[in-house]
Amino acid sequence: MPSVNWDDPVAPMDPDLAAAADAADGFMPADEGAALYAAAVRAAPLGPLLEIGTYCGKSAIHLAAAARTAAMGPGHVVTIDHHRGSEEHQPGWEYHDPTLWDDRAGRLDTLGRARATLDHADLADEVVMIVGGSVEVGALWDRPLGLVFMDGGHTEQAARADYETWARHVAPGGLLVIHDVFEDPAAGGQAPFRVWCRAVDSGRFVPREHAGQGSLRVLQHRP
Ligand code: SAH
Ligand code: MG
Repeated sequence: MPSVNWDDPVAPMDPDLAAAADAADGFMPADEGAALYAAAVRAAPLGPLLEIGTYCGKSAIHLAAAARTAAMGPGHVVTIDHHRGSEEHQPGWEYHDPTLWDDRAGRLDTLGRARATLDHADLADEVVMIVGGSVEVGALWDRPLGLVFMDGGHTEQAARADYETWARHVAPGGLLVIHDVFEDPAAGGQAPFRVWCRAVDSGRFVPREHAGQGSLRVLQHRP
């Protein structure tokens, strides 16, 4: 059984791929993306790397680059998003991008941009993009995952449903990575932090503080 190797350092991501991630639209600062990449390189031998919340594919570049570094072959990264945006991406909200509006559907559509992001980085082969709701896809899922990256809906209800749906699919010794964890309510919404607390309180996950960066937190399933 492979296990996460915390001892050996992970070399930084290929500079061209880091530049592609920088240039992509989205919400993954470079330093947090680097931590996601390193965690994903370590977890890749344990099973597929799954992301909830693809948006335009920025964080998916980090996961796909990690799968390539770990030489896992095509399709080792699975991304899930209904590609209609979260609350804060809708018209009139803080993070709305009008260039992502789909006139025909009368809704946001981030799928085309996400696909273009991965094509442009030449990482499309590494990724299976699933278009659908996280809970609905979870109902079809039955396979241990090396890493689950939670970055979907940030309402209390959405974050909790994602945790309840996906945390149980983390392989023994695998990693659960949560984005936008803010302990201080003044710094940001509390739903991801409460999920982090829930994971710790469950006794099934051990925080790996050294592997995190900023609001990106890494937990390891007890083997
Ligand atoms: N990881 C991205 C940012 C994700 S933003 C980056 O690197 O930039 C959050 C995404 O979660 C949005 O694209 C939204 O459509 C998606 N999302 C929100 N709720 C969801 C749900 N229930 N199921 C699937 N995707 C969801
Ligand atoms: Mg995020």
